[in-house]
Amino acid sequence: MKKQIIFFLLMGFFLTGETFAGNALMNQAQHKQTKEKMAGMKKMKMHSADTTQMANKNSIVRKGMINVEALDKNHDGKLYEDVMDWNVISDQPGTCPLCGMKLREMTVQQVKNNLKEHGFKYK
Ligand SMILES: [Zn+2]
Repeated sequence: MKKQIIFFLLMGFFLTGETFAGNALMNQAQHKQTKEKMAGMKKMKMHSADTTQMANKNSIVRKGMINVEALDKNHDGKLYEDVMDWNVISDQPGTCPLCGMKLREMTVQQVKNNLKEHGFKYK
């Protein structure tokens, strides 16, 4: 009877010991995998953030004929324009994707005047 208990205790110890070691190994492997996975995800995330940001930024750089009134999507008569790059016009406050300057609030008429003054085509 006593022998049996000792046997079970030893078995228990042996099993937990082995599981423990196994877990430690697994954890290490998993940790490495997770780390690699995370790095990959971070890369992907950064990449997608870059591209969306680029797309958003590029969308406010106006090219060719600029239809100023059409840019005022919310029809409040106000637009945001970069005073360095006059063709950077947005209906929302923001920064210029070309030079990083904060866009200045302008009326639609002011934007037209600015474009005219700086040789941009507009209507
Ligand atoms: Zn700019």
